[in-house]
Amino acid sequence: MGMYPQVEVNLSKLAENIKETKKRTDACGIVIAGVVKGVWADLEITRIYDAAGLAHIASSRVEQLAKLKQAGVTTPLLMVRTPMTCEVEEVVRFADISLQSEMQVIAEMNTAALEQHKVHDIILMKDIGDLREGIFQLDELTCAAQTIENDMPGLRLVGIGTNLGCYGALDPTPSKLSELVETAKAVEEIIGRELTYISGGATSSVPRVLDGTMPARINHLRIGELMLLGRDQQVLRGYDMPFLNTDALTLKAQIIELKEKPSRPQGDSVLDSFGNRPVFEDKGMMKRALLAIGQADYGALLYGDTPAIIPRDPDIEIISASSDHTIMDITKAKRDYKVGDIIEFDLWYTAMLHLFSKESVAKVYINRL
Ligand SMILES: *Cc1c(COP(=O)(O)O)cnc(C)c1O
Repeated sequence: MGMYPQVEVNLSKLAENIKETKKRTDACGIVIAGVVKGVWADLEITRIYDAAGLAHIASSRVEQLAKLKQAGVTTPLLMVRTPMTCEVEEVVRFADISLQSEMQVIAEMNTAALEQHKVHDIILMKDIGDLREGIFQLDELTCAAQTIENDMPGLRLVGIGTNLGCYGALDPTPSKLSELVETAKAVEEIIGRELTYISGGATSSVPRVLDGTMPARINHLRIGELMLLGRDQQVLRGYDMPFLNTDALTLKAQIIELKEKPSRPQGDSVLDSFGNRPVFEDKGMMKRALLAIGQADYGALLYGDTPAIIPRDPDIEIISASSDHTIMDITKAKRDYKVGDIIEFDLWYTAMLHLFSKESVAKVYINRL
């Protein structure tokens, strides 16, 4: 149906992923920020999140939050990247709450909030060792908290949070997450009241909920990948999560050429269009299908050592891709593919992110609620 390449979005499977995840976090007193930046804050998908009764809907891009606010999304919006100073006014205008880690930005947020006659909620980020965003030293963090509490009437400090697994590939172990709880307690001592949120990370922290090892006071998680794709923890970390649909999103691309060709180029090889000198194994003659989709649509072909898009037909394999073409080996396929046929793929996060940010890729929604 419709134009290709396309991502087919099964809205009821996404709704089920959210419901099943929320059931499990609810049981440990944890609320969810549904992170939609991975689907470029797709409005149809975000409306499913909006109807699910989540604490927040989150993105790292203020223009995405602006779009959602203007579209009438009612769940409070959370900005998950510390703002650029050039966007503090928009962040105050469109986000109800934001993650913060830089005093200069926080001061400008306070000024913008006062100008807009608003009180803006913030969660202060503690770096517990992953080394992307967050305040690293505890005394610097408690000092920042005190300044916000006492001197910034435009802001309300509602929580402490941390991020893991984005740079340092840090494992959210119970002891690492307990460090965050200790940080929150130190802040509570200084400001003399309890914080509303202790935000214990992202998708990679969800296994702590499932195995019952989440430190008691962690009560907020920012979840993107898990509810959209559900691949990372199951495929990379080996946690079984049978309650998730891993096929809610399907990439569909069309075959535009189908021929028997040798597996090795005929003639002298130079550099390819990406600056690499490829090596070719001689596998004899092959049945090759050429697809009308490429790295201009889904970003870099490789995710680690494997393709970022995964054919659902286990008997076919991606050979390579350029900007606008993907070359498949269909020699062993049981299905008799023809020109015009559609090949379906599962996605890793990076491919999903690129596909949703591209107008060249159609979005088709099925199983509306
Ligand atoms: C993107 C992001 C998330 C969501 O990450 P997932 O791994 O997709 O769950 C959470 N927190 C922050 C700060 C982020 O930037």
